[in-house]
Amino acid sequence: MEEKLIDEKKQGELLVLEQKEGNQRKLFIESYGCQMNFSDSEIVASILAEQGYNTTENLEEADLVLVNTCSIRDKAEQTVRKRLEKYNAVKKINPNMKVGVLGCMAERLKSKFLKEEKIVDMVVGPDAYKDLPNLLKEVEEGRNAVNVILSKDETYGDISPVRLGGHGVTAFVSITRGCDNMCTFCVVPFTRGRERSRDPKSILEEVNDLAEKGYKEITLLDQNVDSYLWYGGGLKKDYKNASEIQRATATNFAQLLEMTAEAQPGMRIRFSTSNPQDMTEDVLHSMAKYDNICNYIHLPAQSGSTRILKEMNRQYTREEYFELIDRVREIIPDCAISQDIITGFSTETEEDHRDTLSLMDYVKYDFGFMFMYSERPGTPAARKLDDDVPAEIKKRRLIEIVDLQREHSAYRTQQFVGQTVEVLIEKESHKSEAQWSGRTQHNTVAVFPKEYYKVGDFVMVKIEDCTSATLLGNAVGYSKNNV
Ligand code: SAM
Repeated sequence: MEEKLIDEKKQGELLVLEQKEGNQRKLFIESYGCQMNFSDSEIVASILAEQGYNTTENLEEADLVLVNTCSIRDKAEQTVRKRLEKYNAVKKINPNMKVGVLGCMAERLKSKFLKEEKIVDMVVGPDAYKDLPNLLKEVEEGRNAVNVILSKDETYGDISPVRLGGHGVTAFVSITRGCDNMCTFCVVPFTRGRERSRDPKSILEEVNDLAEKGYKEITLLDQNVDSYLWYGGGLKKDYKNASEIQRATATNFAQLLEMTAEAQPGMRIRFSTSNPQDMTEDVLHSMAKYDNICNYIHLPAQSGSTRILKEMNRQYTREEYFELIDRVREIIPDCAISQDIITGFSTETEEDHRDTLSLMDYVKYDFGFMFMYSERPGTPAARKLDDDVPAEIKKRRLIEIVDLQREHSAYRTQQFVGQTVEVLIEKESHKSEAQWSGRTQHNTVAVFPKEYYKVGDFVMVKIEDCTSATLLGNAVGYSKNNV
């Protein structure tokens, strides 16, 4: 048991987009890891649509197979290696098929990948997707191609991603790339480079375009959304050298959030992920001010022990985390909160583990994503600390944390029974053809009989019952937000 309560169904999801007329070549693209990767795959497919590629669901007929990879934990890398074995088997039937590795594993392993995985023709890091046309030419001429250069300013703001993988109701809009936080366990700063924000103008254009296409909910996406800062382009770390005029006209995350909420009052606005050390009160006030900003924050704690937080180079203590939670509850009393927690980080004792359990008891999170610590080569923790908590102990602590989260999720879900809440319909329930599935603004899944409602409707649902993670009810009419 590595990860519990995380949506594993999305892993390896295949991206199939609208077919562009005249395109002859076939692209099979699969994605693993975080939402940023799924978003990036849409950008890649858009770039390749201009190069004559249409997406296919059929691996056997592909001219080009791309796998967008994740390095966050060892298990994620092993999953990709297994997929490469599968592609290798298909390549034996279709020797002209080319295979490319994209994303964080490409960045971490660079040209070493070509030696390790003989079937790989192309290795492309997260900032090099615009170079794909040139790299493909190299591959077609029989050479291997690698571009893993990390950029100071690439945000793909000028590429309009094609999005037909989902249900046309919710979409992710990426606002920043890279991460400067240097949490000691994390590989992201090494694979995705330094932090740089995207021009708010291009973000708003993308949001407006999504609204025009009928989307009803967007999630502003980044490893660390609260750190968003646009001052005319460039790295966040270079803001200290910004001119007076650049400072005076800069846009921070709270401002971006408000601009987005105002631009599309009929759309739900979400954001993810918040880092406690960068979350500021003005964001909470913006959330309270606009009805269409969902009352939900994903606020990873990682640990409840101040000592471990220090070893992780998280810039907050247990007490500061509690203060932030108290402020959230004061400013947005009904805010749902979710967590990421790592168990068994280097030197974690039973006492540290108990601190994590008691932190969870204090917050009573609505949801959680919990992981056993997986040492990543090259990270500060791998260089300076021993991965000294035995696997069985990590596993036992993970089970305890997952069980406690399940109790808290059940408690939070139960609070909605008897209430009438707004649900945005996303898709048919996977358990019953007669039911719709959608989410409340608190991000809780709700399931109810279809009647005459349709995907994309905002519906008021009377909650009659629940499981630990799902609300069960009946629609009582459209929401006032349904247009
Ligand atoms: N940027 C966010 C933050 O810092 O809070 C989250 C980014 S990460 C893609 C998602 C989660 O994976 C992290 O919050 C952390 O809980 C987990 N994670 C990252 N590195 C890990 C590692 N080496 N072992 C286990 N879990 C890890």
